[in-house]
Amino acid sequence: MKIASFEATTLNVPEDEPLANMPEEKGRTRPVVILRLRTDNGIEGLGVTFYGGKVTGSLRVAVEELAAFTVGEDPMRIEAIIAKLRAAADSAGPGGIFTLALSAIDVALWDIKGKALDQPLWKLLGGHRDRVPTYASGALRRGLTDDQAQQAARTLVEKGFREMKTQMALPGNPTPEDEMRRVRMVREAIGPDIKLMCDINQRWRPEQAIDIGSRVEDVGLFWLEDVTTADDYQGLARVTAALNTPIAGGEYLWGIAPFRQMIEARSVDIVMVDIARAGGVTPWMKIAGMAEAFNLPIVSHVMPEILVHVVAACPNGLTVEYMPRMLALYEETPPIENGELVLSDKPGLGLKFDEKAIAAFTA
Ligand SMILES: [Mg+2]
Repeated sequence: MKIASFEATTLNVPEDEPLANMPEEKGRTRPVVILRLRTDNGIEGLGVTFYGGKVTGSLRVAVEELAAFTVGEDPMRIEAIIAKLRAAADSAGPGGIFTLALSAIDVALWDIKGKALDQPLWKLLGGHRDRVPTYASGALRRGLTDDQAQQAARTLVEKGFREMKTQMALPGNPTPEDEMRRVRMVREAIGPDIKLMCDINQRWRPEQAIDIGSRVEDVGLFWLEDVTTADDYQGLARVTAALNTPIAGGEYLWGIAPFRQMIEARSVDIVMVDIARAGGVTPWMKIAGMAEAFNLPIVSHVMPEILVHVVAACPNGLTVEYMPRMLALYEETPPIENGELVLSDKPGLGLKFDEKAIAAFTA
């Protein structure tokens, strides 16, 4: 079996918020690049990447230029292909557009491998469990009013979510009191038994994180995420040491090596990995192993339809972020039962592009 051809397409995917119908901004879209990697025996692997912003055209070209180097290669030899692409790109890595593009190819290769072996990816990667907890994400954002946040939180509970994420670092110039009020109001709306995460998106100083974080300890947050600049490993470590609330982070790191620094510095209690910035399934699983060796759980960032496989595969996989923005790209995605994503036995990623949706989103 050899890679025979490829096709990369730029899409503008609507950023609707289907979980509680609380879009950040009506009509907003996100540019996304999808890849179809085809073998000479008729298997098609799919990959997706994004974060290209206004240079998504360059990201698509990078995917195409790298994919061209996979033609003629054996798709089962993923590490060999990655090494070839790294060499071809010279010093265009280790982060940035090179890694975003590499991720789409790596994901497509794993999809092909699963289909060729007639095994779902989560089993191929370890198969630790066939159901994974998931949390609603993107519906309880900082831009909402307190009333809207409470209403959205109740909607999520009514829909059966057992875990959900909100945000602090509110817009404007909030006082610590304002921040506390918001997270308390969300907790009040959902009751004590729902797991509640809270994302700061790198917007606080370490001392602010310790101050506000210690004032909300009694809210019982499941984690506080990206409390300060993602590569301030020492600052993060101060916050992690000071608070009882677990600190999560890692989605902004590129490749695998920065995770060594982050974990060795004891910067976080929960390791979060973004597949596009990591460079695909291959590095995602390596980071999961690194976290396991340090007795740390690992969680995913966005794209639940793909990341459910890696979290389910790992013994230290904790929960899957259910950020539903890309679900419209597919005919069918894993269902949620009792707050858990249910894996299937469909080979590879188990996903098929919804061609009508793809045509509608094509840029
Ligand atoms: Mg985050």
